[in-house]
Amino acid sequence: MADDQGHVVAVVGAGPAGLFATRALANAGCRVLLLNRDIKPGGLAEYGIFLDKYKMKGGLRRQFHKILSDPRITYLGHVPVGPDGPLTVEQLLGLGFDALVFAHGAQGTKYLGVEGERLPGVYHAKDLVYHYNRLPPFAEREFPMGRRVAIVGVGNVMVDIANYCAHYCDCDEIIAVARRGPFEKAYEDKEFEDVEDAFDRELYRQELERIRPRLEAVGQNPDELTKALGARPEPAERTSARLRFRFLASPKRVVAENGRVIGLDVEETRLERTGDRINAVGTGEISRIPCDTVVFAVGDRVDPRFGLPYKDGLYVTTPNAEQDPGAAYEVWDPESKRPLTGVFVVGWSRRASDGVVGRARLDAETSALGPLRPASKNTSSRAMRRCSTFSAPRTPRVSCRTEAAAPPPPRRLRRGSSAPRGPASRARRALRSAAESA
Ligand SMILES: Cc1cc2nc3c(=O)[nH]c(=O)nc-3n(C[C@H](O)[C@H](O)[C@H](O)COP(=O)(O)OP(=O)(O)OC[C@H]3O[C@@H](n4cnc5c(N)ncnc54)[C@H](O)[C@@H]3O)c2cc1C
Repeated sequence: MADDQGHVVAVVGAGPAGLFATRALANAGCRVLLLNRDIKPGGLAEYGIFLDKYKMKGGLRRQFHKILSDPRITYLGHVPVGPDGPLTVEQLLGLGFDALVFAHGAQGTKYLGVEGERLPGVYHAKDLVYHYNRLPPFAEREFPMGRRVAIVGVGNVMVDIANYCAHYCDCDEIIAVARRGPFEKAYEDKEFEDVEDAFDRELYRQELERIRPRLEAVGQNPDELTKALGARPEPAERTSARLRFRFLASPKRVVAENGRVIGLDVEETRLERTGDRINAVGTGEISRIPCDTVVFAVGDRVDPRFGLPYKDGLYVTTPNAEQDPGAAYEVWDPESKRPLTGVFVVGWSRRASDGVVGRARLDAETSALGPLRPASKNTSSRAMRRCSTFSAPRTPRVSCRTEAAAPPPPRRLRRGSSAPRGPASRARRALRSAAESA
C-alpha cells in the first residue's frame, strides 16, 4: 500500500488499457481505484475477442486476475461513469484524485450516413460481437441472422463476423463489401485462416477479373493476388456457407420491403492514388447486392456524450505533445486552452478502434507516465483522505471464470444469459462514504 506521499489515481474502464495502466501505476506505488461499466473486467478482451479463442482469452484473464489481486488496487464493477451512470465525469473530477485515467474504450457507434442503416436486420458489429460474447444486455437481445449476410468493411472484425456467420449461424452466403480494392484490405492473413473453410476461391478470382481494369489503372496487379492464393493450402474441410468479396463498392442504401432487408445498394468506385494513399471515388453507377442482413464492421468512435472535451471523433488531448509521452495523453480543455491537469485518456478512448491488445498495453504503460509526473501530484493528501474508505480487499472482488470460458454451443448460440444486478448500489455507497469522510 502506498504511504501518505503516494498518488491516488482513479482509472475508468477495466479493458486491457485500463488494467495495464492500473498495473503500471500500482507498481509505481500508487493506490488505484478502478471503476468499470461491466461487472467482469477485460473489456473487449473478454467481450470482443472471438468466442472460441480460448487460449488467448484464458491467458489474458489470468493476467487480469493477477493485476486485480494487488492489494493497492480496488476494483468496482458495474459502475458506468458518465451522464447515464451513478457518477459523472464532473463528479469524479471533484473527488480530488491525484490523477484520473480514462480507459473506457470506444463506446460510440460510427454511422456512415447510409439510408436504412438503422432498419431491423441491420447491425453494428460491436453490438453483435457483444451479443455472441454474452455481454449483458446485448446477450439478451435477439440478433437474428439471415441466410445472405453483407458485411461492410474488410478488417479483422469483418473476419470475426464472417466466422460467426459461417460457423455459428445458418448462413448460405457471406459477402464482404469494400469501398476500395483487395490491396487495401485491413484484415490480417493469420486472422483470415479462421474463415478459409468458407472462402470461395473461384468467386474471388472472378471478382479480381471483374475489377482488373480499375486495379491496373493505379498500377496494381491482380495476378499477384491470384498467385498468392494458389500458394495457400486448400482447407481440408469446407463449411456450407460461402464467403465472397465485393470490392470497389460504396454502400449507399439498405433496401427493405415490408420491413425486411432485401439488399444493399452500392455505388461502384474507381481507385485514385494520392501520394501513398489509395482513395475510392464514386462512379455514379449503382448496383444491388441481394442480402437479408447487413452488418457494419467499420470501426467505432468514442462516446461524445461522455463528459470529456470532444472534437472530430476524439477526446481532445494536449496539442503538439508528441515529444512528451505523458502529456500526449493528457486531456486538453479547448475553451481555456490549457490541459486538464492530471486527466488522461488511453487505449481505444484515445484512438478508437486502433490496434490490438498489445497496442493497448503499450499505450497504457506509456500513458501511466503522465499521472506519475510531479506536476500531477497536486491534491495528494486531500485525495488520500477522500479515498481512505477504499480499503483494498485482500482478494479481488471479481471472478475471472466467465460464461465464455465454457465451450460454445454448437452452431447456434444459446440466448438469454442473465444480467447480474446490484453492485452499482454498492459502488454508490462506497463513493458516498468516501466523499463524506473527506
Ligand atoms: C470484435 C473484436 C475482436 C478483437 N479481437 C482481438 C484479438 O483477437 N486479439 C487482440 O489482440 N485484439 C483484439 N481486438 C482488439 C482489442 O480488443 C482492443 O485492442 C482492446 O480491447 C482495447 O482496449 P481498451 O481497454 O482501450 O478498450 P476496451 O477493451 O473497449 O475496454 C473498455 C472498458 O471500459 C469499460 N467502460 C466502458 N464505458 C464505461 C463507462 N462509461 N464507465 C466505466 N467503464 C466503462 C468497459 O466495461 C470495458 O471494460 C478485438 C476487438 C474487437 C472489437
